[in-house]
Amino acid sequence: AKRRGRNTFQWYTDELNRKVTERVNLRHALQQAIEQEQFELHYQPQIHHSGRVAGVEALIRWYHPERGNIPPGQFIPLAEDTGQIIPISEWVMETACRDAVVLNAESATPITMAINVSPMQFQRPGFLDSVKQVLARSGLPPALLELELTEGVLMDSAEHTIQALQALRQLGVHIALDDFGTGFSSLSYLKRLPINKLKVDRSFVGDVAVDSRDAAIVEGVVTMADKLGLEVLIEGVETAEQFHFLRTLQCGHYQGYYFARPMALSALKAYLKTPLVV
Ligand code: C2E
Ligand code: CA
Ligand code: CA
Ligand code: CA
Repeated sequence: AKRRGRNTFQWYTDELNRKVTERVNLRHALQQAIEQEQFELHYQPQIHHSGRVAGVEALIRWYHPERGNIPPGQFIPLAEDTGQIIPISEWVMETACRDAVVLNAESATPITMAINVSPMQFQRPGFLDSVKQVLARSGLPPALLELELTEGVLMDSAEHTIQALQALRQLGVHIALDDFGTGFSSLSYLKRLPINKLKVDRSFVGDVAVDSRDAAIVEGVVTMADKLGLEVLIEGVETAEQFHFLRTLQCGHYQGYYFARPMALSALKAYLKTPLVV
């Protein structure tokens, strides 16, 4: 039994070493990615219930020369830990705002650019200034910029957070609460925080057409948001069945593979030229 214990331990440390090495490697690769600009932004359309494309969400893509595509779910959390998220986020903001100006020049109706803001990025003292600068440099009207924040960020140090959000709102920038419903926070902050939009997490959408409990939650959120004067976007709509159920709720906006996957700027331009039938 003793020997087996030692073997198990040995396996355990090997596994741990492997993970640590992998993290170190990834961190190093990420540094190169930042220096060599191996990132690209893809854009996923956000559809107004009328069928119009109201906005797009910028989603980062990393094509590593040897490893290929590394999904953001793998490197964004690491970049948060190491602080590498700061230069990455600056690149995202700069690129997305510049692309938004190009898109809006070609589009007959305004297209909002939604950008994911990481907790570390938001909490840095210079965040407001960096947003102002990026708007000034790109010439994007502030009302066409939407910052997506998660509940976790908004719960932290409430007073400071409210002030930061109010300053952003005064600029004319919009604030969306991302992954709504996945946090464990109370709903009371909804009346205190100056946000514009709730993005209902896709975990409520998968079974919405077949599970009356999911349907009740989504319906409740839509009603509540409406009464609070907030816009709603439902994320992760994948099937016609889900969409046909959801549209009976008279919800404002939708996003998901059913409408379009995230795509490169050139593909998005073509997509915007083809009228959507909903
Ligand atoms: P998120 O902000 O919740 O973004 C939505 C994710 O759901 C994206 O995954 C998108 O590709 C995916 N998605 C969209 N429609 C559907 C659908 O119908 N079904 C399913 N199953 N998935 C759908 P992605 O691109 O892998 O991004 C994952 C997460 O990484 C994002 O979640 C966000 O938290 C983070 N992320 C991505 N880009 C950035 C960025 O530029 N900055 C920061 N800070 N985080 C980012
Ligand atoms: Ca998001
Ligand atoms: Ca989300
Ligand atoms: Ca998320």
